[in-house]
Amino acid sequence: MTILELQSVEKKYSQAENFAVKDVSFKVTSGEILALVGESGSGKTTLLRLIAGLEHPDNGIIYLSGNKIVEGRKSVPSNQRKVGMVFQDYALFPHLTILENVKFGLPKNLPDPEKVAKDTLKLVGLSENFSKYPHQLSGGQQQRVALARAIAPQPSILLMDEPFSNLDAMLKDQVREEIRQIIKKTGVTAIFVTHDTRDALSTADRIAILHKGRLQQIDSPRNLYEKPVNAYVANFFGKRNEILATPTVDGFYTPFGFIADERSKQYSEKVRLLFRPEHATLYNEVGQVLNGSIFKVSYYGDHQIVKLADEDGKRVSIKTSPHLDLSNLTQVGFSLDYFEVEPAF
Ligand code: ADP
Ligand code: MG
Repeated sequence: MTILELQSVEKKYSQAENFAVKDVSFKVTSGEILALVGESGSGKTTLLRLIAGLEHPDNGIIYLSGNKIVEGRKSVPSNQRKVGMVFQDYALFPHLTILENVKFGLPKNLPDPEKVAKDTLKLVGLSENFSKYPHQLSGGQQQRVALARAIAPQPSILLMDEPFSNLDAMLKDQVREEIRQIIKKTGVTAIFVTHDTRDALSTADRIAILHKGRLQQIDSPRNLYEKPVNAYVANFFGKRNEILATPTVDGFYTPFGFIADERSKQYSEKVRLLFRPEHATLYNEVGQVLNGSIFKVSYYGDHQIVKLADEDGKRVSIKTSPHLDLSNLTQVGFSLDYFEVEPAF
């Protein structure tokens, strides 16, 4: 069931030269976690604020739970939208206890707001801290209070802007997993903004990627990573190698050797074979499918990146086990486990 639908939503700030959000359309399904990614200034925060009703679009339609909440410049006020929001800095009230913080967002007509607030704090794992103040809690705990405050009124959708960016790297993996589990347990539909591709890939059911206000692709983490629709999306999730190749009836000739592959039949002109560093397997001996000379080995503890060069000096990077012994070797072999084919020109 669709919870949120955007149709050609556009926003241009007054004075601004370009649209902050341009012709964005997508749907979010009930219970889904969607990550919104893109570099700084790509329009992520603006899009969240448009959904929340904190900004108003110039064009476009937004439906939430089947109700039209935005049509062009006409829109339902923010406080009538049933949207929960977690801000980057959590925006907790410093002079209220965490229980009061959570109670604050609840509708005034609830029979027992105290119980709802307590139950929600328990749900996020904070049952012993009801009377503490935000500054007495760790960053991860403060974030869970902000999350509890946002979900206590049972919003149709939960919006989170850069929820993990204030947490240090050690804490981040743990908090990310906790937040994901809480969201899944409540079944709330959620959109979170991040500029960190690891956060998005590991936490989201689907990812939407914005570039200059335009939606590039919305897809599962695996499809975005392995089947990017354009070079921008591909490079956003890490570098890809490119090998120039000539198609024959049964494969591709490359400067590193011949690869048998059915897809060659579809091409008559030169192509580019595209693959990520971890989509190749390196062998510490020659005589493999493909062979190259070692240009550089970089050791990172949990993996090594080996740069290989062909006869013309064109290079590719391959990720391999830290234990593969490459000492005293100048030539090595490799094979491609997965690659995409695109026309070269
Ligand atoms: P992101 O969250 O992806 O970093 P934003 O949505 O904050 O991107 O910004 C998108 C574009 O809109 C940027 O060019 C930014 O400078 C501009 N912008 C954001 N907020 C405002 C504002 N209140 N007034 C004018 N321009 C803004
Ligand atoms: Mg932002």
